Amino acid sequence: MKPIRIELPTEFDVGSVNSYLFTEPEPILVDCGVESPESWAALQAGLAQQGLTPEDIQRIIITHPHVDHFGLAARIADLSGGQVWIADLGAKWLIDPKKYFGLRADYYREQFLIQAGIPDEMAQMILTYFAQIAIDISPVPAEYLQTFRIGDSLALGGASWQVLHMPGHASHQTCFYQPESRQFLSADMLLPKTPTPIVERPSVNQPRQPSLPIFMESLTRCEALDIDTVYPGHGEPFQNHRQLIQKQRDRIHKRKAETLALIQQGYHTAYALVNQMYAHYPATFRFAGLWMLIGYLDLLLAEGEINVETVDGVWHFEVKED
Ligand SMILES: [Zn+2]
Repeated sequence: MKPIRIELPTEFDVGSVNSYLFTEPEPILVDCGVESPESWAALQAGLAQQGLTPEDIQRIIITHPHVDHFGLAARIADLSGGQVWIADLGAKWLIDPKKYFGLRADYYREQFLIQAGIPDEMAQMILTYFAQIAIDISPVPAEYLQTFRIGDSLALGGASWQVLHMPGHASHQTCFYQPESRQFLSADMLLPKTPTPIVERPSVNQPRQPSLPIFMESLTRCEALDIDTVYPGHGEPFQNHRQLIQKQRDRIHKRKAETLALIQQGYHTAYALVNQMYAHYPATFRFAGLWMLIGYLDLLLAEGEINVETVDGVWHFEVKED
C-alpha cells in the first residue's frame, strides 16, 4: 500500500509537515508533527478520514529527531500504548530533548555564533528563539522507545522498507526505501525546496561536521536509488527525483560560486557574507541563510578554494592565491 499523507500545520517558516499513515496490517505513522492544538486537530481529522483515531496507532516511526517530526509522539503513545521507533543514533534526542537542544544552544552561544561574527544583539535573538523551541518540547519516555539500526528493515503497510542513513540536514536522519514498489519516504533529505544543512554541535574533541558537503554525498546516494515516488517530510509527494536532485545541485554550485565572488569582493566573515547574499530577505535574522552560507563555505574549504583563519575568535575567509 501507499503511505497516506496527513499534512499537519507548524508555526515554522517551513509551513506544514507531513505525517504518513499506513493502515494495513496495523495503523502506523511515520513522523507526527509539532506539539500544538492545531497539529493535533489536523492529525485527528486525517486519521478520522481513514476511520481511525490516535488510540489506534500501533507504532510511530520517527525519521529524525526534529520537533516538527516527533512533536506529538509522546501524546499518541500515551493514548494508544503504541511504541515510538527511531534509529539508535537519534534516540537520546527524544528521551531528553531539552538537554540536547540545550547543548546545541551552548555550542552556538560559546563558539559558533562568535566564529560566524554574529553581533551580540542578534546572537541573543537567535538563542532566545532556540530556547523557546526547547521549552515547548515534550520528551518521549524511554520505556516507549524502540530503536532500530541503519541497514535494518521496517515492516510498513505489508512491505519491507530499508532503513538508510541520510545525514546532511540532520546527522541522525533516516529515510525508508521500498525497492519493489520503488517508494521512498525521504524525511527532510529530498524536499521540493533544498533542506537547510543545519550546523550541529561537534562531538567532544572532534571538528565540526560540514553539513552541506555531507548533504551532497547523501544526495548522490539518493540519486542512485531507483525511485518512483518520493514521500517528503514537507510538501507534496513527487516523482522524477533525479531531475530535482540535479536542479538543487546546480543551484548549490551557483550559490557556492557567488560566495567565492563575494569573498573576492572583500566580505570575509560569515555574517558579512550572509548579509550580502540574503540582503533581499526580511530583516529578521536569516537563520536558514546562515546555515546555507556556512555550507557553501564548507564546500569551498573542502575544494581548497578558500582558507579560513580565526582572528579574535571570528572566522575570516580568504580566497587562496595560486
Ligand atoms: Zn522537517
